[in-house]
Amino acid sequence: MEKVVIAGSGPAGLTAAIYLARADLSPVVVEGIQPGGQLTTTSEVENYPGFAESVDGTVLVQEMRRQAERFGARFIQSEVASSDFGVRPFKLVLDGGAMLETRTVIIATGASARYLGLESEQKLRGKGVSACATCDGAFFRNVPVAVVGGGDVAAEDALFLTRYASAVTVIHRRDALRASKIMADRLISNEKVTMKWNSVVEEVRDVAEGKVTGLRLRDVKTGQISEIDVEGLFVAIGHEPNTGPFQGQLELDKAGYVVVSGARTSVEGVFAAGDVQDHVYRQAVTAAGSGCMAALETERYLESLGE
Ligand code: NDP
Repeated sequence: MEKVVIAGSGPAGLTAAIYLARADLSPVVVEGIQPGGQLTTTSEVENYPGFAESVDGTVLVQEMRRQAERFGARFIQSEVASSDFGVRPFKLVLDGGAMLETRTVIIATGASARYLGLESEQKLRGKGVSACATCDGAFFRNVPVAVVGGGDVAAEDALFLTRYASAVTVIHRRDALRASKIMADRLISNEKVTMKWNSVVEEVRDVAEGKVTGLRLRDVKTGQISEIDVEGLFVAIGHEPNTGPFQGQLELDKAGYVVVSGARTSVEGVFAAGDVQDHVYRQAVTAAGSGCMAALETERYLESLGE
């Protein structure tokens, strides 16, 4: 039986692993379907403290992993398929059928950005199509970009992008924003922003093969097709927390995120960290911070069990 199993190997899971390995608790990390998490989809990370010259996202998580391994963390290349938190020890069934029994669990399975589901969009991911303005915005200096979505994240992303881009077109499928009034007002009054209401992206164009050059849009009211030239498309239509394997086992909010108090979940002995419990900040550094919190809580809980 394990003392602690960490599900997920992004900055939250790996930071928890570093702390727990240093505390001699020999954590097991189930790496998940995308080892390293969302950071591995970013090339340069310029806002993680400690790297004045920026760091490659994949390199950053690889270093975190090495750091955890150095202190004795163990890694399993699989993902959690289902869980049972109604029994003690807890049970985690992995993809492929293996089962882990453990005193404590840290859920750090992250969230996945929602995409539009267009073939052209998938083809150009990382080549002008991004779901993270904070990560990639600075690469689009003095060129036009577009943001799709009408929520707070779309508004925030579009405003952030105005710092770099020559112009920002916000494409929204309705004629009213979902974003809070203050964000909506700021967005609409920004000189660099043009709104395309009642519009959806039909195709991401790449006339210069392999790089976004524009978008084909459809007005959902009139059916009219139009084209705009942009070099970047930021998709901001929400995220899905990766909580499928834990459904029914602990409290989730209505969007499916783990409900936490600090790092504690509704089940004693089960903790959560990173984007799986945070739909607001969603940064590598905040994920790492919450991974540390979950590890400290886990240590305390195991101590209370006399482990
Ligand atoms: P939201 O769910 O609030 O907004 C998603 C947006 O994407 C909506 O406008 C929606 O359109 C649109 N959308 C969804 N699916 C599609 C699709 N397939 N095609 C086109 N458009 C689509 O998600 P956010 O990520 O913006 O925000 C998540 C949460 O985080 C919210 O609760 C938000 O308020 C909060 N947040 C708060 C901040 C703050 O307070 N400063 C900052 C950032 C986030 P439609 O409106 O038609 O449904």
